[in-house]
Amino acid sequence: MKINKNFDNLVPNYLFADVAKKTAEFAKANPDKKIIKLGIGDVTLPLAPVVVEAMKKGAEDLAHKETFKGYPDYEGYAFLREAIANYYKGFGVTVSADEIFVSDGAKSDCGNIGDIFDKDNTVLVTDPVYPVYVDSNIMAGRKIVYASSDESNGFAAMPDDSVKADIIYLCSPNNPTGAAYNYEQLKAWVDYANKNDAIILYDSAYEAFITEDLPRSIFAVEGARKCAIEICSLSKTAGFTGTRCGYTIIPKELERDGHNLYSIWYRRQATKFNGVSWPVQCAAAAVFSEEGQKQIKKNIEYYQENARIISSALDELGIYYTGGKNSPYVWLKCPNNMGSWEFFDLLLKEANVVGTPGEGFGENGAGYFRLTSFGDRENTIEAVERLKKLIKSL
Ligand code: PLP
Repeated sequence: MKINKNFDNLVPNYLFADVAKKTAEFAKANPDKKIIKLGIGDVTLPLAPVVVEAMKKGAEDLAHKETFKGYPDYEGYAFLREAIANYYKGFGVTVSADEIFVSDGAKSDCGNIGDIFDKDNTVLVTDPVYPVYVDSNIMAGRKIVYASSDESNGFAAMPDDSVKADIIYLCSPNNPTGAAYNYEQLKAWVDYANKNDAIILYDSAYEAFITEDLPRSIFAVEGARKCAIEICSLSKTAGFTGTRCGYTIIPKELERDGHNLYSIWYRRQATKFNGVSWPVQCAAAAVFSEEGQKQIKKNIEYYQENARIISSALDELGIYYTGGKNSPYVWLKCPNNMGSWEFFDLLLKEANVVGTPGEGFGENGAGYFRLTSFGDRENTIEAVERLKKLIKSL
């Protein structure tokens, strides 16, 4: 018996464990100090009332023979896929309900989509990066190349014609850097992918945070239907991190190597996935209703205001950062050329504020730091005041 030895090639990522350990040790040694966490990537506001009502009604349906539901369709119920297609129409993007696959979240889809591609493909990710793209491809034994996101490109890596890649992961607005691509930048990636016969796996998990005139979907870009798959999630859009629902869009005409990608992903899902529960699909559909959109917008605006509070403090301090405007993440350069962990320790010790060291997201994250806007308002304001005081004292 042999196991998949590719697992030996994974680099241990202790980032969040180390953050938690250092924070717990500090809290134990300083029980009188109020620690504020701006490191969390999880939402904190509850589900919108209309979503909860729909979920309750869905649960009630399961209690009666006449309305009971068994296995759902592999690709999700038509009413939810139609609601998603209609949502896209709202920002001017045409996708058909029958190009949408409902899933239990974007992490699963980002990891599982690799099933439809051969091992012998080169994967391109931007650095810093959401670790799932890297680790899932290491597990599959694929070669990975990195495109540099750094200050020279506003932490939004661009394609390099001298690099050959087959599978390209893009995330916009980006986790961890908060940078969001504009139309021209995305068009450059689409042109690169089409020229290289590559596929873009576009993670739009944070599209709902876009405030400026930027594409909310890769399919807003001309040529994308010939080279892109979009993966999205209700986790950050509507607080579904614990409820679990996302979706993947594969244009019906998308083909590579003589195969239709929609068809093979359908086959893959039908083999390994039995769908999303009825109450959750009802709740997800409520997100896209008129009332649902109003209610989730309130929560998003709450986080956006937190992000604005954090960014304006950095503006005041003259510290370089990306994100904050179209993203719940603010990615900043550590003051005085400090290392990420050095700044983490200082911030924890002197300001009792917890953030996330950038180097946990890749080499280019060294010397940078991620703050998130998912905390509550009062704590965000207090943390920012402490951060300002600390940095001014350096
Ligand atoms: N994609 C990105 C870029 C993320 O940051 C996250 C969550 O942090 C996910 C996907 C995961 O989404 P889900 O909760 O739908 O699995």
